Amino acid sequence: MTKHIFITGGVVSSLGKGLTTASIGLLLEKKGLSIRVQKLDPYINVDPGTMSPFQHGEVYVLDDGSETDLDLGHYERFTNAKLSRNCNYTTGKIYSSVIRKERQGAYLGKTVQMIPHITDEIKAAIRSVVSPDVDVVLTELGGTVGDIEGLPFLEAFRQFRLDMGPENVLYIHLTLLPHLKASQEMKTKPTQQSVGKLREIGIQPDILICRTERSMTQEMREKISLFCNVEPEAVIEEKDVDHTIYEVPIVLKDQGLDRLIEKKLGLSHKENGLEDWQEIVEFIKHPHDEVTVAVVGKYIHLHDAYKSIYESLAHAGITNRTDVKILKIDSEAITAGTADKALAKADAILVPGGFGERGISGKIESVRIARQRGIPYFGICLGLHMAVIEFARNVLGLKKANSTEVDPATPDPVICLLDEQKDITDKGGTMRLGAYPCRLEPGRALDAYGAAEISERHRHRYEFNNSYRDILKDAGLVPTGIYEKDDLVEILEIADHPWFVAVQFHPEFKSKPTSVHPLFRDFVKATLINRTKGKPAGARV
Ligand code: GLN
Repeated sequence: MTKHIFITGGVVSSLGKGLTTASIGLLLEKKGLSIRVQKLDPYINVDPGTMSPFQHGEVYVLDDGSETDLDLGHYERFTNAKLSRNCNYTTGKIYSSVIRKERQGAYLGKTVQMIPHITDEIKAAIRSVVSPDVDVVLTELGGTVGDIEGLPFLEAFRQFRLDMGPENVLYIHLTLLPHLKASQEMKTKPTQQSVGKLREIGIQPDILICRTERSMTQEMREKISLFCNVEPEAVIEEKDVDHTIYEVPIVLKDQGLDRLIEKKLGLSHKENGLEDWQEIVEFIKHPHDEVTVAVVGKYIHLHDAYKSIYESLAHAGITNRTDVKILKIDSEAITAGTADKALAKADAILVPGGFGERGISGKIESVRIARQRGIPYFGICLGLHMAVIEFARNVLGLKKANSTEVDPATPDPVICLLDEQKDITDKGGTMRLGAYPCRLEPGRALDAYGAAEISERHRHRYEFNNSYRDILKDAGLVPTGIYEKDDLVEILEIADHPWFVAVQFHPEFKSKPTSVHPLFRDFVKATLINRTKGKPAGARV
């Protein structure tokens, strides 16, 4: 029988529920258990695909093309759980399904209600990831206990234990123990109130995980235990980590969380240490070198907008035993006149994905600096578009070359929509999404992957225009990766450059701390080599 763990959060948002859930998943996998991880988001959008980065942070894309919450990125980086579109449900997705069924007459004339119809749909969503080979399903609820939108989900969680039996369902609640400077003490009241809210709904948490800045005393543990009706040993401390989020599973294991879950769910499995993760943390804490990578984007001030890119750079740092410092550059603040100065400290430049015309010229200028000064360049999705436009304008002399996303009337649409995309008006329906195969020709990418057939995830509308393929290639911007079925260019490189690789896909969705993506690995490696060969970054530009 598959066991279920429900993870909720209280007191404040941004407690790190996703990271904690991913860490629990890792701890269970280390015990030889097969897991699935799922995120339920109470907002009404059907998926985060059309949400602004201001609202939502990064949209994380899976192989099957689903556009999901960024917490699924944590799940994939920490665990080996297979993720699919069933791993992220929103209120919008649940309601659209119920309303569709109602229109089809599936409810046989009944009044369609929150309970049982919406809650049944939520329970079906939870069961959709269960299969005979799955030992444990982890289901994380977005938002904070007390939010009106979260109520139907909590009600479904409550019913789930009744349906499955108490021995098969575990409730874990994550809370905050704030430290008040004025009185120099940590406060348990917000935790008590949050648990109180859960108990009103009929959920008694089995385990409390308390986020803290400082260690809690035994006395506090006992107080929380008494007021929240949770045994003292099930009050787990999750203290802030200093250096890296990859320390979280170690902290939780040290607190005995894995053994506790095992005991409460009656699981007995082999013990496997976290030596590999300990090594990762050691590498991050004691790097041998340091490089600075400029990431040039328009959402640079938002912590989560380029989450997977930053994580992938950190993974590249781990394998290269290097601290990868990220210089966040606002593309809107860069002009031809200021680009040199803004990028003076950059050992390498990365232009990530993006949409719309804002900040485009700053990105093109950043590519120019990278190309002309021999600074390693990694262009991702829109970063490939920028590389093509820059090269067409400044090397081929096509001064008005552009993407039709930015200038629909450009005389040289080096990046454009394919003919078959032009009539689609549904915003959610025009994208090339999910995994596509790609065949590699000799070049840096092939060197990195070490295999000619690869598969990578996509999320974009506009494509490289094959009418410009030959002239760009002859001038030195060479296609080295092709999606053969539709003859689409997926990778472009400049051979006569320390490392200049632009990709149409999103490699950042397939990098893990335990197995870095080969392109990120080689990008940082080339940056290290380039820097030792040349002058320090500041002097070179
Ligand atoms: N806006 C571009 C497109 O839609 C690039 C998308 C991206 O960078 N993810 O094609």
